[in-house]
Amino acid sequence: MDVSSATEAPAAPQLRERSDIPDRFKWNLEDIFHDWSEWQQAYDELEIKIGAYAALQGTLEKGADRLLAAMKLSDDIGQLTYKVWYFASLKHDEDQRDNQINARRQQVQILFAKASQASAWFNPELLAIPLPTIQQWMAADSELAVYRFALEDLYRQQEHVLDEKGEHLLSLSSRFSSSPNDAYAALSTADIKHPTIKLSTGPEVTLTYGQYRAILATNRNQGDRAAAFEAYHKVFAASVNTYASLYNGVLQRDWFHSQARGYGSTLDAALHGNAIPPAVVENLIQTTKGGTEPLRRYHRLRRRVLGLASYHTYDTAIPLVDYDRKYPYEDVLAWLPASVEPLGGEYQQRMREGLSSRWIDVYENPGKRSGAYSAPVYGVHPYMLLNHNDTLDAVFTLAHEMGHSMHTLLSNAHQPFVYAAYTIFVAEVPSTLSEALFLEHMLARATDERERIVLLTHAIDGIAGTFYTQVLFADYELQAHRLVESGQPITAEGLGEIYFELMKAYYGEALDYDEQSRLTWARIPHFYSTPYYVYQYATCFASSAQLMHQLTTGSAAERAAAIDRYLTLLKSGGSDHPMTLLQRAGVDLSKPEAVRAVVDQLDRLVTQLEDAIRNLTKARD
Ligand SMILES: [Zn+2]
Repeated sequence: MDVSSATEAPAAPQLRERSDIPDRFKWNLEDIFHDWSEWQQAYDELEIKIGAYAALQGTLEKGADRLLAAMKLSDDIGQLTYKVWYFASLKHDEDQRDNQINARRQQVQILFAKASQASAWFNPELLAIPLPTIQQWMAADSELAVYRFALEDLYRQQEHVLDEKGEHLLSLSSRFSSSPNDAYAALSTADIKHPTIKLSTGPEVTLTYGQYRAILATNRNQGDRAAAFEAYHKVFAASVNTYASLYNGVLQRDWFHSQARGYGSTLDAALHGNAIPPAVVENLIQTTKGGTEPLRRYHRLRRRVLGLASYHTYDTAIPLVDYDRKYPYEDVLAWLPASVEPLGGEYQQRMREGLSSRWIDVYENPGKRSGAYSAPVYGVHPYMLLNHNDTLDAVFTLAHEMGHSMHTLLSNAHQPFVYAAYTIFVAEVPSTLSEALFLEHMLARATDERERIVLLTHAIDGIAGTFYTQVLFADYELQAHRLVESGQPITAEGLGEIYFELMKAYYGEALDYDEQSRLTWARIPHFYSTPYYVYQYATCFASSAQLMHQLTTGSAAERAAAIDRYLTLLKSGGSDHPMTLLQRAGVDLSKPEAVRAVVDQLDRLVTQLEDAIRNLTKARD
């Protein structure tokens, strides 16, 4: 199959001034406050309440009513905080060049610092009261019993809190705990010397990370991609021992903190906060390693379709076909509620209401914050920031953020304030499920084989990137930390070997390997900034795949039960530990089924892609 030559990037569309964009495409922040004077009143009220909370110090031991008063005031402060913060923060994101609004936003941040000082007394004072006493109080007072999970979890967390002297010592160490990551950021960003390469078409390009990614994703000349890959990795090769030494700093710090707090391993320490059993991560890694065949099949297919004699990591991002259909926002609006039909009429109706009530800031304008997010403004409704540019990516971003927003909406409607927020461990379940449902809808309505190929590739790349790559990263982090835990040395060579072996375990014979891939670990920011974090994207993805399977297969009664369990999960917010909430929804991450659901999903998508490519080739013959 032939692939057309590289196309020129389309000229960036003219940016409209914010005032020229019709109101229906802009969020309406008046749902929070009418104007800045109303905001100022709320800000002043918040400041007074923070002062009142500080004055409660020393009262808890006097009884249940005092504890209840503190919990309620804390809720009041929290609720007001959402509105005061988001009004300033969302306004700021409309046009980040506005200094006055930025100053107000910073004013809220200063108040936050005061609030955290004003509430520092609470945990030690509570924990000085024996848990059975608190449990007696809760048994006798139904209003206080609402806080049972939150309070009991503070006692559970206390298991690894040290005495005052110990905590003081640890707090002194916190100043240099961030040094390895700060140094990594300086070395890889501020101090980096970007290399320059000459493209086959003549021009010289400076390889910033953005340029490098752009060449891999758009340049149809394999030699150019290879040159970019080589030059980009050379920069890391030049400082690889420094990177290894900085990463050793991260590993040693994690092990120090884990030992100081009495954890058996760095993994135990990382998982304790959300009460996740270590078996979840071990199962994730093992089951994924056993399910790499569809990933390899996808890359073998790519090699064939792209007509490449050798196929490298730098060939994995180039599109299989050129297809530049535009997806205007107003077309997509009708598809979105239609795509969530499997979740029931009420869910669809709520989504339609959101879409027509100015929750979304759709288009880019000068000074607007880039990217996309969903902001959970408690007591009002979720808001979404987009920079919709009519691309397929933008459409899936909308579906993704809508998943977060529906989660917020249902959680806020069904939980008391104290449990309205949900953890990252469940947060990416509804967003990825929303994308999966949207893909099904788009595939069903696609009439052009090329569009099907683009949709399927988008979904497959999503699974490769948010699932397989993240599990590979988690495996790497675990192995590296275990070296330190068992007293073994950390060297650039050793880290490179772990990474390279993992690549081979995942991609097998589907890739031709380059020695430079031994350096890839050195440039992954998450390894330095947030160890043991990325696996949560993978567990969310696995949960979502298993739920998707339950929601769309089986008898009508089974599907109805699955919908009910899923909506219950969304309505549960943060009212229990994430594993418990997911188990109730029918997902047990300590067992292989959820991960197998991802492997099966990928397998089906690759088969569909093979069919679409066969059809397209046939049509051409
Ligand atoms: Zn998300």
